[in-house]
Amino acid sequence: MNSTLGVGMTSQRTRARMVERLREQGIRDERVLTAMASVPRHLFVEQALAHRAYEDTALPLGFGQTISQPYVVARMIELLIAGRQLGKTLEIGAGCGYQTAVLSSLSKDIYAMERIAPLLTRAKDNLRQLRLPQVRFKHGDGHLGIPEAKPFDTIILAAASAHVPQALLDQLAPLGRLVMPLVTGKKPDQVLLMVEQGPQGFFETRFDAVRFVPLLPGVE
Ligand code: SAH
Repeated sequence: MNSTLGVGMTSQRTRARMVERLREQGIRDERVLTAMASVPRHLFVEQALAHRAYEDTALPLGFGQTISQPYVVARMIELLIAGRQLGKTLEIGAGCGYQTAVLSSLSKDIYAMERIAPLLTRAKDNLRQLRLPQVRFKHGDGHLGIPEAKPFDTIILAAASAHVPQALLDQLAPLGRLVMPLVTGKKPDQVLLMVEQGPQGFFETRFDAVRFVPLLPGVE
């Protein structure tokens, strides 16, 4: 975790401006906006990039991965939570733990998976330092989910795939929701996909065009 006094002193104000931007971009759920306002994003990025932490852009976090753009984090969580609570949540692709921290300020029941071991360690350290230690982390391939912890009310993927992993559908609670970046095979290359489990089975809705790193098999 990196921090400088200067960044620390200005971050509250900068974060408030980021939240105003999220409002202008159409994020409406006050719970999500409050959560976005509470997590110090600059502590999750490399020190050299900390001054850019509140720009609405993805930033590199090493290992060829990126910390997601604030708008997209807020948008995905807003889709998951609409009209209810997050409940028990599974996050695939914790990276450095930024989105994990936003999720854990909305629900005390978060499971987070990451396939790159050093990133998972960084996510754990970051959340511990923010006193959000209750997240359960698992090093593993998110295609498999965490069968022993199912069912999940909500599942969120921070990496893109052309298919919804079957194991994740199997671990979704009745009336549960899954949100992920879907690779479309046409323009736009990726869109947000929401899968909801209703009494008649699964149904899908597509939303904004997005750009995420790929969901990869196996672990590192
Ligand atoms: N949630 C992060 C975004 C990290 S980028 C944030 O808040 O910024 C996406 C992450 O997904 C990367 O860390 C990558 O290693 C991870 N990932 C990709 N495929 C995965 C898989 N099959 N299982 C678990 N994590 C995966």
